[in-house]
Amino acid sequence: MPASLSRSTASRIPKALTSLAVEFVSIPTASFKEERVYAYLRRFAEERGIAYREDALGNAVIEYRKGRKTRPLVLGAHTDHPAFVVTEVKGRRLALEFRGGISGDYGKGERVRLYPGDAADTTGRGAATAEITSTGTVAAAQRFPKRLRTARATLAPGATAQVGDLALWDQPMGRVKGEILEGLQMDDLGGALAILWAFERLIEERPDAHVLGLFTRAEEVGLIGAAAVTRTGLLPDDALIVAVECSSMAGGRAEQGAGPIIRVGDLQHIFSPRITMWMTQVARELQATDPKFQYQRKLMDGGTTEATAYDLLGYESGAACLALGNYHNAGPNNRIAVETIHLGDVEGLARLFVAMAQNTRRVESVHADAVKRWRGIAKDAASRLRAGR
Ligand SMILES: [Zn+2]
Repeated sequence: MPASLSRSTASRIPKALTSLAVEFVSIPTASFKEERVYAYLRRFAEERGIAYREDALGNAVIEYRKGRKTRPLVLGAHTDHPAFVVTEVKGRRLALEFRGGISGDYGKGERVRLYPGDAADTTGRGAATAEITSTGTVAAAQRFPKRLRTARATLAPGATAQVGDLALWDQPMGRVKGEILEGLQMDDLGGALAILWAFERLIEERPDAHVLGLFTRAEEVGLIGAAAVTRTGLLPDDALIVAVECSSMAGGRAEQGAGPIIRVGDLQHIFSPRITMWMTQVARELQATDPKFQYQRKLMDGGTTEATAYDLLGYESGAACLALGNYHNAGPNNRIAVETIHLGDVEGLARLFVAMAQNTRRVESVHADAVKRWRGIAKDAASRLRAGR
């Protein structure tokens, strides 16, 4: 890419997005240990004068509402990321349990960084490190033959740990290189970031819309928060849910920097054709008003997303995602690495969400228009076939 072009595209990324991104994705989290992320979300809502609500299980929504009643758009992301939790401490020796999916070829010789398991821990324990000396694996159901399950590690001299501490791969948490945001936990703090950035735009532009940002727990251990939230009363019955993820672009599944992805399905399931068609129509209209707006429409079958849980549990759902590099920190040569996303894709996804939020009542009409068009084609088909003979 010529230097002049790379400068002009770099300026697309608003400074406020860059600073929000680095701050938010740097919050340490793990499955069932997401408290710090929720504390941030609560503060985010309070500072902007919008509602924040939690259900009894710790899932949460933030809410923007203006104008007449309309079907609420729910944008959902999960707040955890694959990580270890300390299960035993004997002197400097630690036993760790891995929560999430990564090949059993990873882990040995890596360093982890420890954070108190209790987010409100006031003992002043800092982030200690430990070195992994051995790993335990189990047969995996999909993606790879065996997955990482446990590890043993040795604390750095002088460091302390307690049972329940988070032990995260010792990688940079959040930094920007050009237009790329890289850090330990893009999946799915990057997805949640796109939702927060959409809310920043809604609050600034004040359109008539009803949008909920939904933030779920414990996705990496089996979409548990997403399954639970369909029963806790946190979601409106007529919710139009779109699951938001960072999803592996490996194998040419998608391209980083080529725009946000309308995700038609995942490894298990295909999402609502009506919602997908509507999202694609809104994206096309956005592109018609601004040819620089890009989007992709892809299956993204590198993993499973929460839309599968929502859709199969009774909420007709769609999905969107960002192309993710180094999915679940699986870098080259079986070494742990930072995950990456493109900030231009985050910006584009937020734009798409704001446009979708103003068009939720068209989910039915976009589909009905397509049916009508095809009825017309069917009606004329016989005479065209005869005439063309
Ligand atoms: Zn994941």
